[in-house]
Amino acid sequence: MSVIYDRVALIGLGLIAGSMAHAMREAGLAREITGFARSEATRQTAREIGLCDRVCDSAAEAVEAADLIVLAVPVGAMGEVAAEIAPHLKPGATLTDVGSVKQAVIEAVAPHIPAGVHFIPGHPLAGTEHSGPRSGFAGLFRNRWWLLTPLPDSDADAVARLSDLVRAIGAKTDRMDPAHHDLVLAVTSHAPHLIAYTMVGVADHLRRVTDEEVIQYSAAGFRDFTRIAASDPTMWRDVFLHNREATLDILGRFTEELFMLQRAIRMGDGQQLFDYFTRTRAIRRGIIEAGQDTEAPDFGRAPGVTKPA
Ligand code: NAP
Repeated sequence: MSVIYDRVALIGLGLIAGSMAHAMREAGLAREITGFARSEATRQTAREIGLCDRVCDSAAEAVEAADLIVLAVPVGAMGEVAAEIAPHLKPGATLTDVGSVKQAVIEAVAPHIPAGVHFIPGHPLAGTEHSGPRSGFAGLFRNRWWLLTPLPDSDADAVARLSDLVRAIGAKTDRMDPAHHDLVLAVTSHAPHLIAYTMVGVADHLRRVTDEEVIQYSAAGFRDFTRIAASDPTMWRDVFLHNREATLDILGRFTEELFMLQRAIRMGDGQQLFDYFTRTRAIRRGIIEAGQDTEAPDFGRAPGVTKPA
């Protein structure tokens, strides 16, 4: 594979930036990758594990002469970081972000971007419940979607070049309107995370059970909730605070459906439950047919394994 950007700067050195660094290096997509994280501890770890070619002690130093700058910090920190690096950006450079919310990030970042710098917001639909500089791996984005939400005046060549990079690190890319992105992600990711957090919280309220049966007999459904609910608290706090309207809309609909199912159970309306579950089963089939998940029982886990490795 050939070089797509001479110099790439990663601001924030956690799961997503680390995975990008590994993937870009594996495929030889950048001549030099610089990085910066706000804490000395993270910078030190990044140096120890050789996360990028050069870990800098300031964001300004990291972005100097960079052709591509990636903001990989929590959504709520994007604006502040953009303001800090803005005076140091090279004319003609591309600035992207990997935030899980798009409209709020655009509102926070765009006002700081100097003329001549291409701001192209993005979001890789790939992640794990792990975070920090040691959690990244090259294969994270393989066959996953990476949505770009260019602005109306985004430069077409700059968008095409960023799309090339995304594809070269193994992802599939598509373009989406930022508001639409936030609604789609509220359905597919943000509301499900909140529901997982809630379910694990409910189990925790039953302390007697938590101490014993819930953990010992943890079945697939609850286990999957606990994995999701182990996700980074800062990242998810920021997602809900910054995708407020769409998430509240979806949670409102969720609550209505829940009441409807609750009533069906109370009234012994088996037909309604059966019809509902038949519809949802078809949705699962559609996800498998679209190549977004495995058909293997229990997500391909080995029988008898109760804890993910
Ligand atoms: P992460 O592993 O927790 O790393 C976050 C990085 O941001 C760390 O280097 C951290 O620095 C830095 N940071 C935290 N708070 C900051 C602040 N207030 N100001 C400046 N820097 C700060 O996070 P991640 O999973 O890579 O997520 C990064 C971005 O990707 C987020 O916007 C998230 O929404 C998005 N995203 C995440 C996933 C996922 O599943 N994890 C998937 C897609 C997109 P220190 O280490 O020095 O504290």
